[in-house]
Amino acid sequence: MPDNVLIHAIKADITSLTVDAIVNAANTSLLGGGGVDGAIHRAAGPKLLEACRELGGCLTGEAKITKGYRLPATFVIHTVGPVWHGGNHGEAELLASCYRNSLKLAIEHHCRTIAFPSISTGIYGYPVEQAAAIAITTVREMLADERGIEKVIFCCFSDRDLDVYQKALAAG
Ligand code: ADP
Repeated sequence: MPDNVLIHAIKADITSLTVDAIVNAANTSLLGGGGVDGAIHRAAGPKLLEACRELGGCLTGEAKITKGYRLPATFVIHTVGPVWHGGNHGEAELLASCYRNSLKLAIEHHCRTIAFPSISTGIYGYPVEQAAAIAITTVREMLADERGIEKVIFCCFSDRDLDVYQKALAAG
């Protein structure tokens, strides 16, 4: 476990967090949707959608960055998680790529604090226990030798998800 980075889970609305970057579980259009994507666009205001239009979409597993506009977060990193199709369609590798590519962008933009939602585990149907294990493993691997990022928050939206993430963090 990297001891240079604080990694923890909380229950919160990600739009309320004062961090350098929040991650959005977006769709490939980057033009808004339901779940956490809708909440982020509502809280950031219409300029976020304008900025997203300029980005020309995003492939599954990749990530793009915008400013946070009316959000307390400085940046929004938009990543597109895989839709769960039973687990044999490259879902795990694509989900890991979301975390890796989001962290790469955060590091490039000198972010020290970043919050992730539970990518793919809402509308996209990824089982949360499996997704949490991938999220935690990938973040720990990426940040093992990292000196820029100081804090990673897994921002859960339900007590059940928080329990899953806290147990997975403790188990690792
Ligand atoms: P996906 O399409 O990637 O599954 P969703 O937005 O449907 O994305 O769900 C991802 C996770 O985000 C789910 O656990 C959902 O409960 C959670 N979520 C929804 N709204 C918020 C919010 N405002 N803050 C943090 N997490 C949220």
